[in-house]
Amino acid sequence: MIVVDAPGSGLLFLDELSPVTVTRTDGASPFFLACEHAGRRIPRRLGNLGLGDYDLARHIAWDIGAEAVALGLSQRLDATLVSQTYSRLVIDCNRDPSVETSIVTVSEATPIPGNHGLWPAEAKARADEIFHPYQDFITAHLDRRQEAGRPSVLIDIHSFTPVFHGKPRPWHIGVLHGADSRLAHILLDLMGGEGDMVVGDNQPYAVDGINDYTIPVHGEQRGIPHVELEIRQDLIISEAGQEAWAERLEGWLTGALERLRRDFPDF
Ligand SMILES: [Zn+2]
Repeated sequence: MIVVDAPGSGLLFLDELSPVTVTRTDGASPFFLACEHAGRRIPRRLGNLGLGDYDLARHIAWDIGAEAVALGLSQRLDATLVSQTYSRLVIDCNRDPSVETSIVTVSEATPIPGNHGLWPAEAKARADEIFHPYQDFITAHLDRRQEAGRPSVLIDIHSFTPVFHGKPRPWHIGVLHGADSRLAHILLDLMGGEGDMVVGDNQPYAVDGINDYTIPVHGEQRGIPHVELEIRQDLIISEAGQEAWAERLEGWLTGALERLRRDFPDF
């Protein structure tokens, strides 16, 4: 068997999946959905990063349930979704490659042997073949919509582990936002109207330029309304949970879009 390297690469073989999966490229909705931690594939050349199957199925490798919710939401809203195929342990596509934790050597408390002692060229190959194609797709797609005069509202979908470093997290969903809180405040208001819902305002994380990339670059810098949503993983492990959350999000986002159009007609 002859194995051919992808041209100019060093990481993905020609027969390996693209890091970019696009669903509903021509979706009619103003909402544009992104899911950086959707997949948990490891490029063949990296083996299993020195981890066993158990760790490669845990939250450290991907955002459990997030892509399924995003797909359900994409279908319900007729919204374009871009999701990333490879594990966040290979390279974090929601973090600038120049940040130290772009390629983690320890995740929560688990050492990642395959990420220790990387040569700069190895790290660069991960950025060139996974991070940049994914992020460049978002840039090009949002540019095209802007040129066509189509409004875009960016929704970045993630999920979080219910227990982190031994500490339980009470929120069902977190609404993460930074400098531009137009959409976040509307959503927080709508979600807070449901009595049994525990909603985190910039919890369990806040958006920042070090631990986030998609929202600061494609939302804040472009000036379009945006929010990052974090759903607790135990709620979206089952298909029924994923479906229920897609439906819930559809309701909140549809309601939020009406208010955005009313309160910020020029968005
Ligand atoms: Zn995530």
